[in-house]
Amino acid sequence: MNKKHKRINVIQPFLPDLKEFIPYLEKIWDSKWLTNNGQFHQQLEKELAEFLGVKHICLFANGTFGLIIALKALEITGEVITTPYSFVATSHSIVWNKATPVFCDIDENNLNIDPEKIEELITNKTTAIMPVHIYGHPCDNERIQTIADRHNLKVIYDAAHAFNVKQNDHSILNWGDLSVLSFHATKVFNTFEGGAIVCHDKDMKRKIDDLKNFGFHSETEVATVGINAKMNEVQAAMGLLQLKYVEDNISKRKKITEYYRKYLKNVEGIKYFSYIPNVTANYSYFPIFVDKNKYGKTRDELYEILKKNNIFPRRYFYPLISQFSSYQNFDSTSKYNLPIANKIAEQVLCLPIYPELDIENVKLISEIIKLKK
Ligand SMILES: *Cc1c(COP(=O)(O)O)cnc(C)c1O
Repeated sequence: MNKKHKRINVIQPFLPDLKEFIPYLEKIWDSKWLTNNGQFHQQLEKELAEFLGVKHICLFANGTFGLIIALKALEITGEVITTPYSFVATSHSIVWNKATPVFCDIDENNLNIDPEKIEELITNKTTAIMPVHIYGHPCDNERIQTIADRHNLKVIYDAAHAFNVKQNDHSILNWGDLSVLSFHATKVFNTFEGGAIVCHDKDMKRKIDDLKNFGFHSETEVATVGINAKMNEVQAAMGLLQLKYVEDNISKRKKITEYYRKYLKNVEGIKYFSYIPNVTANYSYFPIFVDKNKYGKTRDELYEILKKNNIFPRRYFYPLISQFSSYQNFDSTSKYNLPIANKIAEQVLCLPIYPELDIENVKLISEIIKLKK
């Protein structure tokens, strides 16, 4: 294969034309209001809630702060049942709240937490379930809610991948007690860094807004020990501008996904997700799964082949969170029994996908995978 093309990374952040951003910056410079619920911050909360079809949005400096504060706002303690097949921030947020993550295996079909296996992990210390809509694919939300209701548990969704995902035309962000988005540079919608909590009522929004601003409830009252996790005006301005492009970007991602599916269709030993009925997807990732027996090479061998060709996919999510050394002290009964998650973590490779990726390069990447060299 030729190496003449430029390096292709798994993701390239989307940035609108700089000229379009300047007027926003001029407004910030004029107002000298840089943070603390400024004009752009208020506008973005409003526009995002409308765009996403949710009641309330609380903006954050990043998604991880959103996750930590979501658990804090719900006063989560004890044990939280979650998935090992995610980015480390999911379970880190549990540990930052001094609670214990209990890892549940995943469903082979959608790679999300397997509702079938949640109940056997519930103890008298369990207070919450924290699922992740991995790759933006909806969890089995109805069954998760039924289990939560039966055992009086909270549900906090890590929805970092699920920006604007809908099921039967309704946002999946309305499930559970709270959902948390990430607007990191590498996500479908970015504010450089950023995030948000989606919540259902004004009182909860107020509680979360206090928590992200040191606990200030008024000028003279600090009722809880909060933190500083606020989004600033430059981030919020970027969000307002990005919002104008996000639908177009998602349709470009869709096109790329369709080409990958077409080009990789008959490659023995390579699996990928097909269209999910009733779901309006955001095409945030394009994971493939390498079956070494059928493909003739391991996932890591394919990973090396692509890198030699100047293409840099990522093994999202390998290793499993439960495999990191920082998680070896949690003696969760489930730790050594995650067969599906372990298998998938050994097979997965996320191929490059971002709005500006040329279809020519999608073809090239697919050819390399076919030729295995
Ligand atoms: C990106 C991501 C986060 C963290 O979000 P940040 O905005 O980077 O803090 C959390 N969970 C998952 C699943 C993610 O992919």
